[in-house]
Amino acid sequence: MLFTGPSSDVLSSERRPLFDKILIANRGEIACRVIRTAKKLGIKTVAVYSEVDRNALHVLQADEAYCIGPAPSSESYLRVDKIIEICHRTGAQAVHPGYGFLSENAGFAQRLSDEGITFIGPSPTSIRSMGSKSESKDIMISAGVPCVPGYHGSEQSIEKLVEEAEQIGFPVLIKAVMGGGGKGMRIVHNASELPDALESAKREAIKSFGDDRVLVEKYIIRPRHVEVQVFGDQHGNVVSLWERDCSVQRRHQKIIEEAPAPGLSTELRSDLCSKAVAAAKAVNYLGAGTVEFILDNDTDKFYFMEMNTRLQVEHPVTEMITGQDLVQWQLEVAVGNSLPLKQTEIPMLGHSFEARIYAENPRNNFLPDVGPLLHVSTPTTSPSVRLEEGFRQGHDVEVFYDPLIAKLVVHGRDRTEALRILRKALEEYHIVGVSTNVEFLRTLAGNGQFIEGNVETGFIQKYHDDLFPSHPAPSPETLAQAALHVVLRENQVGSGPYSPWTSLGPLRFGGDVYERIITFKSEQGSTATHPAVHVKFVRPGVFDIEVSDPANTSRTEFRSVTTSRLSSSALASTFDGRRLRSTIVSEKPPATGLTGEEKLHVFHEHSGERTTLVIPAPAWLQARSSALQEAQSQGGIRAPMPSLVVDVRVEIGQTIEAGQAVVVLESMKTETVLRAAVAGVVRSINCKKGEMVEEGRELVLIEAEEDADGK
Ligand code: ADP
Ligand code: ADP
Ligand code: MG
Repeated sequence: MLFTGPSSDVLSSERRPLFDKILIANRGEIACRVIRTAKKLGIKTVAVYSEVDRNALHVLQADEAYCIGPAPSSESYLRVDKIIEICHRTGAQAVHPGYGFLSENAGFAQRLSDEGITFIGPSPTSIRSMGSKSESKDIMISAGVPCVPGYHGSEQSIEKLVEEAEQIGFPVLIKAVMGGGGKGMRIVHNASELPDALESAKREAIKSFGDDRVLVEKYIIRPRHVEVQVFGDQHGNVVSLWERDCSVQRRHQKIIEEAPAPGLSTELRSDLCSKAVAAAKAVNYLGAGTVEFILDNDTDKFYFMEMNTRLQVEHPVTEMITGQDLVQWQLEVAVGNSLPLKQTEIPMLGHSFEARIYAENPRNNFLPDVGPLLHVSTPTTSPSVRLEEGFRQGHDVEVFYDPLIAKLVVHGRDRTEALRILRKALEEYHIVGVSTNVEFLRTLAGNGQFIEGNVETGFIQKYHDDLFPSHPAPSPETLAQAALHVVLRENQVGSGPYSPWTSLGPLRFGGDVYERIITFKSEQGSTATHPAVHVKFVRPGVFDIEVSDPANTSRTEFRSVTTSRLSSSALASTFDGRRLRSTIVSEKPPATGLTGEEKLHVFHEHSGERTTLVIPAPAWLQARSSALQEAQSQGGIRAPMPSLVVDVRVEIGQTIEAGQAVVVLESMKTETVLRAAVAGVVRSINCKKGEMVEEGRELVLIEAEEDADGK
């Protein structure tokens, strides 16, 4: 890691001691991140956790840990009373809130201060003024910081908002005044779309933030998201630690961030940073904060968007280019010490990227996924490769919380070098169990436009086809490795150490020829192919292999392939003199699965190539399950991902229209409304409000209209 030691300023005699013990009111990677700095400084740590997080990494890493309630955050991580009680019980002098949860909750900061506990963050007043997107805009305008043109007044009637939107000129963006996390935002292209968009933005806003006030802003067509890291102390000093670019987003949420922002002129940078410092000074800011700007690619003008009064997810890229530990800075200013560095002493070295590793499926609209981390192998860390992990192999990604698994942070002397390091590290990152965006991130980091630094918030839509190439056909070597894995595994399991494939001398075979054909299923684009691999035993550890793919009538023969198992999941083989090391991880079907197939994930060590192959279920089982699925699929509405049922909007026997909302699901901050594909009658409902449902479960069965009429 790039953390330097404390500066001479910090060691000066007036320096106040840091805390002896702090409580971390968070989970996942950010809780682990805070614990790391606390350990470095000899500060004891107290973790809190919910019932499902009993074995979570932050619980293991902290000196003490206390369960504060059931899984839903409203009953655990958001329980102010419980957290305060644990502070008193353990003697924790301060609370680090991380990000999310209570980090921007002014009431929490106030309660702590009333109890004589330090909130490691800004004052309740600054949180309150910055928490409101409209109040913060007022403050910024009077501090001379440019804001996106728009209306952020208190009158909320539809007529008024329509009038203001027309004044601003379409397209406009509706935002929840108390919004965050990309929620409560709607783009509106013309006046006729406005009433519907308003209604749904307000509905989401009241549900998420308990407040349905909205503001209307000019929608910038080709913007970049550029934000400035600021820091303030109790002596009135505020500095900026330069900017970050976080333009590449999905659902208005960041996926990859970098510092410094590519292609920014020195003048523009100093203008942005000084406006951010002015913004922070306007609210007497204390601690770490981020001033977010939207930068119009077409005009190079920038506008204030919002200020986040916390340590941001992407703070590590700033740490990498400045060599500072921002959590340590937070602790220093929280006890009343001056900022560790003056503005002129803050370095900007090289370039850094952060890739957020999410449990989600980019090819399915980035919908979040949950489940076990069956296999995790991570890149080797070094001064230029840093990993912020919240989960390890064997842990579960839960439906209740943010789907962020880890952050991969790299540093290079320049942007090109940093990207090269990022690509290599992503090649070495393998997760099996939940779907992740690792492969997507790797494609992104290798995308020509991204490499050029041509970023904008619409990047993913704009380059969609390049970012989602169809899966290439698996190479013959990949198929051969997978087949060897299966064959060696079968024989090891079958006959233990006496497996004929690896351990017996040829004499024991008595002239028999052992061979086996394995047929795989491989998805290519929307079609499946069924390549077959014929493995023939030659002598222990040596095989002849023939790979054929009926889809393209190709056939490859490998003679005398030598192979050895390095572990239960790693295999090294030599094909025609080329040595290939692969990790092969089996994903067993879920117990409830109907298909009985097995998924094999194959990763090649040097190329980073990753392939998923399916070993189909036996034919009899396939026939049974397809009949079953057929019977269920007519008008059935299924859960597209593991989720919580927020609402069931229909009743048995009810007649419904096509397109009518049937069930509302929520999975990790994302709400999905499932609608009827056909008009008809609700025949059965297999879920209830508040229940967790697994992916693929049929939630509601609708009998289509024609059938209902008996036609
Ligand atoms: P950043 O720190 O860059 O703003 P995000 O916008 O992804 O990152 O938000 C940081 C984290 O804060 C999220 O990962 C989430 O845990 C939490 N968070 C932010 N806004 C909300 C919200 N409205 N509801 C729930 N969680 C939120
Ligand atoms: P949140 O509090 O949910 O993070 P922000 O106001 O920070 O909300 O906006 C989130 C994202 O939405 C930004 O990063 C940007 O991509 C996009 N965005 C926000 N305001 C505008 C705007 N006026 N025009 C275009 N895109 C915008
Ligand atoms: Mg934001």
